[in-house]
Amino acid sequence: MGKVVGEIRKLESLNRIVLPSEVRKVKDLKPLEYAEIYIRENKDIVIEKYDAKKSKSAGLVRRLDALGRIVIPKPTVRELGLKEGDQMTFISGENGEIILKKYYKTCVFCGGDKNLYDFSDKLICEDCLRKIAKMATK
Ligand SMILES: [Zn+2]
Repeated sequence: MGKVVGEIRKLESLNRIVLPSEVRKVKDLKPLEYAEIYIRENKDIVIEKYDAKKSKSAGLVRRLDALGRIVIPKPTVRELGLKEGDQMTFISGENGEIILKKYYKTCVFCGGDKNLYDFSDKLICEDCLRKIAKMATK
C-alpha cells in the first residue's frame, strides 16, 4: 500500500523521469546528487538516496540532472516493460522508501476504464469485480 507522494509523472524519452519535489524532499535528494535504483521481487522500483557507506549495492546508481530528473536504468525499464509516455506514480513505502510504480488508470484485468474501483492500489472495473465475486461464491 503506502501513500502517494507528489504528482504522477510521465516517463520521458531516454527513460527520464522528473522526480516530484515532494519526493526529493522526503529523500533529501538535490539536483546533481546520486540516487540508487533497484527492483524488488514484486516489481516495485525503489529509489533511495545513494550513500556509499550504507549502500547494499543492490541497485544501479544514477545522478539526478540539474532539473531533478533521473534516468531509470535500461534493465529496469526492460524488466518492467515500461515505455515512453507511461504514467508513473511515487509511493512512500513502510520504511520511508520511495517506490515508483506504473500508474494504471484502467482496470488491471480487462483494460476497461468505466466504473472503476480502487482495490489494493490497483483499479478494477465493476464488471470484473462482479465476475470475481461470482467465482468466490461458487
Ligand atoms: Zn475489468
